[in-house]
Amino acid sequence: MDKKSLAPFSRKEKVFFVLSVDTEEEWDWSGSFPQHPFSVKNTANIPKFQAFCDRLGIRPTYFVDYAVANDPESVKNLKEPLDRGRCEIGGHLHPWCNPPVDEDVANAKNSHAINLPMDLVAKKLKNLNMKLEEAFGEKPRSFRSGRWGTNGDMLKLLADNGYVIDSSIHPYYADTPFSYHDAPDIPFWPGYGDCITPGEQRDIFEVPVTSGYNRPDFPFWNRLHRTLSKTPLSQLRLVGILWKLGWMRKIQLSPELADADNMMALVKAALASGHQVIHMYFHSSSLLPGAAPYVKNEADESAFYGKIEAVLEYLKENADVHCCTLEEAAERILKEGQ
Ligand SMILES: [Zn+2]
Repeated sequence: MDKKSLAPFSRKEKVFFVLSVDTEEEWDWSGSFPQHPFSVKNTANIPKFQAFCDRLGIRPTYFVDYAVANDPESVKNLKEPLDRGRCEIGGHLHPWCNPPVDEDVANAKNSHAINLPMDLVAKKLKNLNMKLEEAFGEKPRSFRSGRWGTNGDMLKLLADNGYVIDSSIHPYYADTPFSYHDAPDIPFWPGYGDCITPGEQRDIFEVPVTSGYNRPDFPFWNRLHRTLSKTPLSQLRLVGILWKLGWMRKIQLSPELADADNMMALVKAALASGHQVIHMYFHSSSLLPGAAPYVKNEADESAFYGKIEAVLEYLKENADVHCCTLEEAAERILKEGQ
């Protein structure tokens, strides 16, 4: 992308930059869900990643799952930055590796917690929380579901278990049990009746990841994108043509899924839309070359780090950036009324 189209804004708005990492076992994503014993070799690279974050002032939020919390070496690598106040440890629920595993793990539907009986999810959550508290000496307060997705019952359960922030809603994304095409793309209080509609409860606050388009007014572009993606219109391949022309690009703020230029275009559009939180995300398995699909070798690894840095640099040039953990960002939005 040429520099002109990414020209700085004249006035710098205050924004909170959050980087969240689903911190979990690595496995072959094209195969079935992993079984015991789980491999968590990727967390050996947490110190390297954290040193990178320290250098840039980023304070990451690690959503830690049971397999990682159950591994002493992984805990050591995460506890070091936690003790220095340089990160947040949240909870991440992978039902297939979080006891009790009473469900059929071969059934992909069961990999989404919200497809399981809530009393089973409650038992899993209790075990996850106990393990996290034992490992890190404090209760987790932020949460993300494995493979995204939540609902009112799940949010209520999280709130009853001490969580105050959820980040399981992925705007403009849908999977078997949920559709977040009509969910808010900025922080909000989700309803217990319908989690994608702002509600009355004030127990648990939703802070979604940044997801959208290279142009402001993401809901408008998403409606167009969905219309053009439907058959028979999809046969005209208009979505691909519009992407090539740069007229409409659907972009996730993740170094796993987008290059630096597209992420910067998304950030520019998010800032122009008045977003106060810029929330980037990825999986810890991307920290170990070859462990997951997005970072295959050392060249990919340096490009991966380079993308995060380029986006943050762009953000710093164009906004008054405050790097925060997820909980801090939520607290500040609620306290400062912005
Ligand atoms: Zn996960």
